[in-house]
Amino acid sequence: MMDAVNLLGFDLQGLAAYCEQLGEKRFRATQLFRWIHQKGAADFAQMSDLAKSLRDKLAGRAHITALPVISEHVSADGTIKWLFDVGQGNAVEAVYIPEDDRATLCISSQAGCAVGCRFCSTGHQGFSRNLETWEIIAQLWYAEHSLRQRLNTDERVISNVVMMGMGEPLQNYGALVPALRMMLDDHGYGLSRRRVTVSTSGVVPMIDRLRDDAPVALAVSLHAPNDPLRDQLVPLNRKYPIAELLDSCNRYLERAPRDFITFEYCMLDEVNDTPELARELIALLKGKVSCKINLIPFNPFPASGLKRSSNERVKAFADLLIQAGIITTVRKTRGDDIDAACGQLAGEVQDRTRVHLRMVRAPVVVQRGAASPSTPREGAAPASTANPPGPRP
Ligand code: SF4
Repeated sequence: MMDAVNLLGFDLQGLAAYCEQLGEKRFRATQLFRWIHQKGAADFAQMSDLAKSLRDKLAGRAHITALPVISEHVSADGTIKWLFDVGQGNAVEAVYIPEDDRATLCISSQAGCAVGCRFCSTGHQGFSRNLETWEIIAQLWYAEHSLRQRLNTDERVISNVVMMGMGEPLQNYGALVPALRMMLDDHGYGLSRRRVTVSTSGVVPMIDRLRDDAPVALAVSLHAPNDPLRDQLVPLNRKYPIAELLDSCNRYLERAPRDFITFEYCMLDEVNDTPELARELIALLKGKVSCKINLIPFNPFPASGLKRSSNERVKAFADLLIQAGIITTVRKTRGDDIDAACGQLAGEVQDRTRVHLRMVRAPVVVQRGAASPSTPREGAAPASTANPPGPRP
């Protein structure tokens, strides 16, 4: 089994090429793919419509192996959080969120994350490595088929997948796209493009590539209406500022399965939740990008130095957006009792990049009203007027 290949890593095209290498017809791959992803089979002996000769060949050369589960926590509201072992001291999380009309699985794309968003628990842990395709899809494979068993059903359980767990999916593009294709494949999970969402902090060139390779629903972590503030909350903004990001969103919409982009906006007390910033957000987006805004209650953790906006402030912010005609939702927090809410996925990460050391712990500087950038764009000469982090006004 040392050099045996894990078939969870192949999309249908890859599996067909693999079957050809074994001297088999390409159509055998479709049968095999269905057994793996639609029926959850992990044992070639179960695959009764495959020729015995093929099953024997596969048994010596390949395997179908899930990620080891370190822990499972079930919330009072039905949310389930799994911690998967991805080796070398790293672990990633996936969360199942059942609702009346859908069941969503939130999965991870990296062990840790190198982007280092200020409000994100994963970002504070640093980055270890990209997950491979099989490690991404194994989270869905395990969740789907273990849930079918416990719910005693042959019907599909998971109706939606969101790439919003640990990691920036577009910084692991090569592994992400085959995994997305498996989710969309009618012989695999058969999810429509509207029901698979990639959430990104704004890796502009990869948004353009995703549009061509696997245009699924797109969510963008915005969190601020101007560059000075977003530079501090989402450091990737220094490389791809808001104007470039919004241009790429508009290009994406030409092929997107939905006619809007979802902008995620984590509500941080007295940092990005003021009426002035709501108005700035309206001016930024209204009539410029077809969008919906999802306001996310912040889940505080000690190292962030940030606080959750009160319900009143969230409501006031949302009301301004709604009055301006922007579709706005406030995310319900789920799985609070098992730390499964957005931004709380912590896993375990052997930080190889020391991102956590580079993250500035000082308070976020809030500039009232529109302002010129306080931090230089990546690659630009440092401006002498750049504002270092300092006390919040
Ligand atoms: S919010 Fe997303 S991109 Fe930002 S640090 Fe967390 S996992 Fe990375």
